[in-house]
Amino acid sequence: MIGAFYQPQAVLADLSTLQTLPQRELSAGMAEVVKYGALGDADFFTWLEQNMPDLMAQHPEKLAQAVYHCCKMKADIVAQDETEQGIRAWLNLGHTFGHVIEAEMGYGVWLHGEAVAAGTVLAARLSEQLGKTTAADTQRIAALLETAKLPAAPRSLRLKNGLNT
Ligand SMILES: [Zn+2]
Repeated sequence: MIGAFYQPQAVLADLSTLQTLPQRELSAGMAEVVKYGALGDADFFTWLEQNMPDLMAQHPEKLAQAVYHCCKMKADIVAQDETEQGIRAWLNLGHTFGHVIEAEMGYGVWLHGEAVAAGTVLAARLSEQLGKTTAADTQRIAALLETAKLPAAPRSLRLKNGLNT
């Protein structure tokens, strides 16, 4: 039904399917994991900095921790703002710029998560320019994404206002 919101009764994540993915797809998924750390959970972000090599190596317990934490964060945020009147928009971190990158580069050139990764860094830079975060914050986000073998900038775009690299 248009305009209706239904929440799931449960979330099932079969982590064994991740083992079937090429490395590039795993990295792309990791952009969404980093998003959860960057959007308001400093402890989780620090944990990701410490554990990204294990996550990329598909350490089963670490992957389970990360997936559980992201699902819990999403559930908590959605429960607080079921109809996206406020904080649920946080879940779009990196996606506003990411969708522009996907559209400008042409769909299929970069994976969604790759565009979101670069979009997250652009969002961090904008936040920095608005005085909400620091250059060090942006650098930490970019470094973590690069650890996950993700692009921290859209190399082929020339954006105005100093946002290009
Ligand atoms: Zn996404």
